[in-house]
Amino acid sequence: MKNANPTPEGFFQDLDQKTAIVTGSTKGIGLEIARIMLSCGANVIVNSRNQKEVDATVERLRSDPNTRGSVIGLHGDVGVYENCEKLAQEAAQHFGKIDVLVNNAGTSMISNSLELQKEDWEKAIRTNLTGPFFMSQVCGKIMAKNHGGSIINISSIFGGGGVPKRLAYCASKFGLNGLTKTLAAEWAHYNIRVNAVSPGFIKTPMDQGDQTSGGYSVEEINRRTPAGRYGTAAEVAQVVLFLASDFSSYITGANILVDGGWLAYVGWDKLLNELE
Ligand code: NAP
Repeated sequence: MKNANPTPEGFFQDLDQKTAIVTGSTKGIGLEIARIMLSCGANVIVNSRNQKEVDATVERLRSDPNTRGSVIGLHGDVGVYENCEKLAQEAAQHFGKIDVLVNNAGTSMISNSLELQKEDWEKAIRTNLTGPFFMSQVCGKIMAKNHGGSIINISSIFGGGGVPKRLAYCASKFGLNGLTKTLAAEWAHYNIRVNAVSPGFIKTPMDQGDQTSGGYSVEEINRRTPAGRYGTAAEVAQVVLFLASDFSSYITGANILVDGGWLAYVGWDKLLNELE
């Protein structure tokens, strides 16, 4: 076990020169995770399915004055095993090791369950659950041979309760939580920690799309959230940073909610508004 130096400088030292793969990091929460890791001196592998966007993101991050670590980009769909193998091998070859894997790439799926298409179900499960399994396995093999590592799965509050018309998405995130706990129990002896972070509503391109297809508004979400507002990608990234660092060295199998109290609350909108 490594003792983390419990000072702000210690936090930076801890992440310095660690190698982190962040899947789905050209926008939204993943981009913010890549940004915060780089600002702490970690070396980051940026990924998405779109090569042009990966290249543009790498350029953007390299020219960010807060970036202290190195950044490279590798495109590929995490739902395809061969892509995951390539991603892990190239990352390990380039930086010599993999310390952190953030399984962030995700897709949402809104459909009446009676009408849900097989292809849409499969896409959600492949991206949100099978992808994290593939990535954890290929990176886990490298971590197990080396010094251990930290795997962080970006789950959701929708992995903690059922929501109408989100069957495939909810099932994929419930599955991801099961994957997190099982790998945590199985790989702790390799010094590989596996944790989940479950965001509530965060303003990202995914949420923008869901507002349109799911027919909800920012105001409705703000009213239903005990904290009274959306969360930010940075508020999620900060928790990921903690789980990536040795400051969380005895935490494995956890699922940390970053949801402004959403899942703590079982009342209704009006009741929250009466508290004002
Ligand atoms: P986003 O804005 O849609 O960004 C998703 C990222 O993943 C993009 O870079 C996207 O790029 C990439 N991606 C999608 N499918 C991929 C695949 N098969 N392989 C590789 N990359 C892929 O999403 P976000 O809102 O930041 O969400 C990030 C994670 O947080 C997801 O797992 C999501 O379920 C979770 N989450 C989000 C919220 C929220 O309110 N936003 C709440 C709870 C949980 P390409 O499409 O170009 O590949």
